[in-house]
Amino acid sequence: MNEFEIIRRYFARQPVARGDVRVGIGDDAAVVEVPADRELVVSTDLLVAGVHFPADTAPDAIGWKALAVNLSDLAAMGAEPAWFTLNLSLPDADPDWLAGMCSGLYALAAEHDVQLIGGDTTRGPLTLGIQILGLVPRGAALTRAGARPGDRVFVSGTLGDAALGLLSRQGRLAPAPDMAPGLDARLDRPTPRLDVGRALRGLASACIDLSDGLAADLGHILEASGAGARVELERLPRSAAYRALQAQVGWDPAVSHGDDYELCFSVPPGRLDALSRRMASVGCPVTEIGVIDAGPGLRFVDESGRAYRPARAGFDHFGAVPPSPP
Ligand code: ADP
Ligand code: MG
Repeated sequence: MNEFEIIRRYFARQPVARGDVRVGIGDDAAVVEVPADRELVVSTDLLVAGVHFPADTAPDAIGWKALAVNLSDLAAMGAEPAWFTLNLSLPDADPDWLAGMCSGLYALAAEHDVQLIGGDTTRGPLTLGIQILGLVPRGAALTRAGARPGDRVFVSGTLGDAALGLLSRQGRLAPAPDMAPGLDARLDRPTPRLDVGRALRGLASACIDLSDGLAADLGHILEASGAGARVELERLPRSAAYRALQAQVGWDPAVSHGDDYELCFSVPPGRLDALSRRMASVGCPVTEIGVIDAGPGLRFVDESGRAYRPARAGFDHFGAVPPSPP
């Protein structure tokens, strides 16, 4: 199978066909229509085998997750995803791997009506680079800056499940057999919180998605906003599986391991009623975990008011002592 056969078989046909794509795969570039009252929101994420996922990860999980982490970035901006490109580097043209990767990729693409409109395919170490493009009403994008003292801090969903899934896959943790598949799914098939992000337009003062862990990512909001925050550990939303393992794993998986792909955001006190009204129609719960203050920095406190310092600060590819990937 040569490069052009790969493109024809796996990429030229894909399940989503949007009306706003004037030129899709097959030309030198794609052409899409951007409505006059919208702004274009662009993000990209690179996934390298052996760094972001073990090379033997199921191919459909790789395809799903490569798109999910990009969709999650648009969710954090309150944007509507529309199109994506795929830069793919492959050690060899394995049809089973390609079919599996595409099935995960396209399942999520169809769920969010986001169309593959181009890319590049080369031979090399297994790497997937997706660029995602989306739309947001003019001026309505959420950003990391804008959190003010007194704003409440929230997260969507539950924290730490993907981290527990990874520990269990590494043989470092043994969840109950009925809990393991749920943790696995949180690791392999994260759910981008696009509905939460959209509902936060006009409400959240700042927003970020949790890829590197709550401590690191809320830290980015605080840095961009020039503020501090106090977070109460007891309030962190945890799954039944997490609670069952809490005595073994403590707080770190929820606080600093990453790969959650939940949203963390701040809301001014005057908008809390509007938030609960709007969240009533969103499938994913959100939980208040703390409050923005003048600082300094981000402080975690346990139920007795004692300060808690996470054992690790979050994942940093170029950190002085590289931690193992989250
Ligand atoms: P060029 O040499 O002009 O860059 P290519 O031969 O690389 O064109 O690609 C041909 C067409 O196939 C282009 O429209 C390109 O966007 C698309 N394409 C190539 N690789 C991928 C891929 N991995 N996913 C989606 N589309 C792809
Ligand atoms: Mg090319």
